[in-house]
Amino acid sequence: MKSYKFIHFILVFVLVLSLANCGKKEETKMTDTQKTAAVQTEKGKKPPVIKDYENIDTVKTQMAKLAPVEITYDSSNLTDNEKKVLKLLVKAAKYMDKIFLMQVYKKNYPILKELNRKTKEDPDYVALKKYFKINFGPFDRLAAHKPFINLHVEKPKGANFYPAKMTKEEFEEHIKANPDDEKAFTSNFTVIRKRKGKLVAVPYSKAYKKFLEPAAKLLKEAAQLAENPSLKKYLNSRADAFSSNDYFQSDMDWMDLKDHKIEVVIGPYEVYEDKLFGYKAAFEAFITLVDHKESEKWAKVAKLMNEMEKNLPTDDKYKNFNRGASSPSMIVEEVFTGGDTKAAVQTTAFNLPNDEKVRQAKGNKQVMLRNIARAKFQKCWIPIVKEVMAESNLPLISFDAYFNHVMMHEYSHGLGPGTIEKNGKKTTVNKELKDHYSTIEEAKADVLGIWNSQFMVDKGIFPKELEKNIYVTYMGGMFRSIRFGIDTAHGGGNAIQMNYMLEKQAFFVDKETGRFSVNPDKNKIIEAIKQLANEILEIQALGDYERAGQFIAKYKHISPQLQQALDKLKTVPTDIRPIYAIEKELGKK
Ligand code: ZN
Repeated sequence: MKSYKFIHFILVFVLVLSLANCGKKEETKMTDTQKTAAVQTEKGKKPPVIKDYENIDTVKTQMAKLAPVEITYDSSNLTDNEKKVLKLLVKAAKYMDKIFLMQVYKKNYPILKELNRKTKEDPDYVALKKYFKINFGPFDRLAAHKPFINLHVEKPKGANFYPAKMTKEEFEEHIKANPDDEKAFTSNFTVIRKRKGKLVAVPYSKAYKKFLEPAAKLLKEAAQLAENPSLKKYLNSRADAFSSNDYFQSDMDWMDLKDHKIEVVIGPYEVYEDKLFGYKAAFEAFITLVDHKESEKWAKVAKLMNEMEKNLPTDDKYKNFNRGASSPSMIVEEVFTGGDTKAAVQTTAFNLPNDEKVRQAKGNKQVMLRNIARAKFQKCWIPIVKEVMAESNLPLISFDAYFNHVMMHEYSHGLGPGTIEKNGKKTTVNKELKDHYSTIEEAKADVLGIWNSQFMVDKGIFPKELEKNIYVTYMGGMFRSIRFGIDTAHGGGNAIQMNYMLEKQAFFVDKETGRFSVNPDKNKIIEAIKQLANEILEIQALGDYERAGQFIAKYKHISPQLQQALDKLKTVPTDIRPIYAIEKELGKK
């Protein structure tokens, strides 16, 4: 109970104060050695860093939203050297944990120290520490960063990238007064600190030196053992970047990785943790193994973009063959992650690098973490469909159908109208559809994703047996997205599809059981998908804001039947908490 904990804290605090006062009264009679002892006692009884915390049952309920999963990996294809490289990289990745912990919140290390100390005496602290580690700090990432330790302290918007009390205006005024500082201040790779009342930019290489130095050493050691020349090059240049603070060359080298078994990303990348300006990159690492067979399959699909465009269920005049080549896709199995990406909700795909200069020169790489997708499918997806789908449909659910749809969704973003002409003027779909754009675009990617999955079956790229799984799995996926709320682009897009499919009798709801099923007549569902895709593609091609609004108003809602289904999902985990097999192996040594 949180108020109990708070009262408990006040009582202790009053007690500490009164003890301290007692000490002062006696001071005149003390000898020198006694004085030191008294000061030490006073110091030792400083108010604790953890002042109060959330009801521990609430913390445990939050934690239960993340289902633990062991992340194993298959090392049978690796040489002894490669196995050693992998372990060195995991050790280096662990330093990303340490840096990210520093980046999130200034008091993280003092809080962790106290948690470590108290876990021995108070079982509440065991749960608190576990959840603190999951969140990389005392703020609950599954509840909009609400604090669960020190309940009255809000997370600074700029995390620990800026002085906690610095305002946006203060930062902007500094740049106005010191235009030469702009580049360093807005750099992705500096932190802003206050020295003698003045703001200064400190490069990451200096701010995190104590962790970056040993991490670089491990990367160099791994580079020495690495047999693949492109990997060797990347590991060396990335290690150099940790001390030079210049990441350009190593990002270029990462794009040049070729015929490698170990796919690794390590360094500062995403800027989402900096909610003040979105400038500062958080450290993270992905240590993964390349699945060459799967990657080749998707390379084949990528080559068919023009054929997919030609096959779209829309008027030929709306088709668009100039959207540029799609990014290469790589399918990997995750072995370990560190830092930013490990905090709370797990990443299933990433698209890097972020440096525009590198993207222009070399493009970008989309990496899919297949075993993480599978773990989420098993722990968070299957339990949902078991609650809401008709028994007869359940045996038709398949991971391959699900994963293929996820992939086809990504490719389908690159299909259909992008740049359009409206009233004789060149514009984009995004510009014209404004606030309706992202919902329509996500619905488009889903519905074309399924349209194209069938196309891949017809072309023999996906096995024919998959056909029976595609549509049932497509419906199953909608519940998970809608569960996260129809005000998100994905959730809203899925509600639209669900209601559209029900209207066209492609899906049914059983009146007695409330369970959902797919019309066994395949033609019925293909026809509904065709019509829905046609409607969306036309809205986009015409850049028709009003029609988009009417369409969304008609289909984006939660019917009582759907609500009933969602109500059954309250205890189903929303994401996974990885437990890495390789970490255990390292621990044993
Ligand atoms: Zn999407």
